[in-house]
Amino acid sequence: MAIQVLKPKFHVDECIEQIRECLEKGWTGMGFKTVEFEEKWKEYTGHPHAYYLNSNTVGLYMAVQILKAECGWNDGDEIITTPITFVSTNHAMPKNNLIARFADVDEYLCLDPQDVERKINERTRAVMFVGYGGRVGRLKTIIEICRKHGLKLILDAAHMSGTRVDGVCPGTWDGVDVTVYSYQAVKNLPTADSGMICFADGRYDVIARKLGWLGINKDTYARTGDKGTYKWKYDVEYVGQKDHGNSIMAAIGIVQLRYLDEDNRYRRMLASMYDQAFADNPNIKIVGAPYHDECSYHIYELIVPDREGLLDELAKHEIYAGVHYRDNTEYSIYAYDHGECPHAHEVSQHIISLPLHLYLTEEDIRLVAGVVNDFTR
Ligand SMILES: *Cc1c(COP(=O)(O)O)cnc(C)c1O
Repeated sequence: MAIQVLKPKFHVDECIEQIRECLEKGWTGMGFKTVEFEEKWKEYTGHPHAYYLNSNTVGLYMAVQILKAECGWNDGDEIITTPITFVSTNHAMPKNNLIARFADVDEYLCLDPQDVERKINERTRAVMFVGYGGRVGRLKTIIEICRKHGLKLILDAAHMSGTRVDGVCPGTWDGVDVTVYSYQAVKNLPTADSGMICFADGRYDVIARKLGWLGINKDTYARTGDKGTYKWKYDVEYVGQKDHGNSIMAAIGIVQLRYLDEDNRYRRMLASMYDQAFADNPNIKIVGAPYHDECSYHIYELIVPDREGLLDELAKHEIYAGVHYRDNTEYSIYAYDHGECPHAHEVSQHIISLPLHLYLTEEDIRLVAGVVNDFTR
């Protein structure tokens, strides 16, 4: 059977049971399971606030939107960000009339603190950090830099569901202003599409809940009493958007969260098998996890001399690897910073994501690693 790069595993019967509750109750929208999932996520992560959304993408947009309005940033101000990410991360800036200013990545393929400091200027307002593959990279140093220069820090934690450092979720570290998770179909906690925005400051959480529901100041669930009484009157305080999540997605999320730690342990076991298999291959560079041992390992990355050749060779064996990601400054919309991030540019030509998911067996890993080692040696 063909081996895919990413493949979600759902606990089907339990998911159906949770969804059935929504259908029987007649409540599939915002409220009910979304509230339960928010509570469970706060308990699991330690975030003081969590607002359930229909994607991480809208969460990143909203994070920038709220910080811009509340901190008084101007159009044309800059946020320093990474070129090695999915474009959702960077679209949050132009969507809000801000400039995405690209800094280079380090050996973890996370933002390189030295280059971040170099890119700071009088228009810089924030840093957008991506926990690439679930890694934290040098986030601690980035926090210090943000503190020193009075910058806000947004964490795109799309890959980081379940990542912990010394038992703590990095999104909750002091100095991270807002953390945005993704529960998109192939992420570590898959639903179909949804996400969570977690502000450190409760005032911003209150604003997010209004903005994510057309600017309305009371949601329908909160306006429906125990006896089915329904208060119809509300005020509209913002021109908001429709970003909130729904109970069907949350129902799946609640089930998948129960297995997240167990699932991530299995991913780490597979990743360490790969690590061992490639340890003495001089032509392969492993993109490793830094000083923490609880990485979510959303993806497993190698840097190889002939990436296109290896992709083809793997495909011949019905093994479908991937590329995460192409240097975003190669896209025409971000070409204004092309050449500003030489390491990212170089890495982007050589990076390959090997299959890593919960359906893979140890035998599969040996098979994939064998093909990779044969081709590259
Ligand atoms: C998947 C992903 C997103 C977008 O998440 P959605 O929930 O699909 O909107 C953003 N950033 C990164 C790094 C991602 O991998």
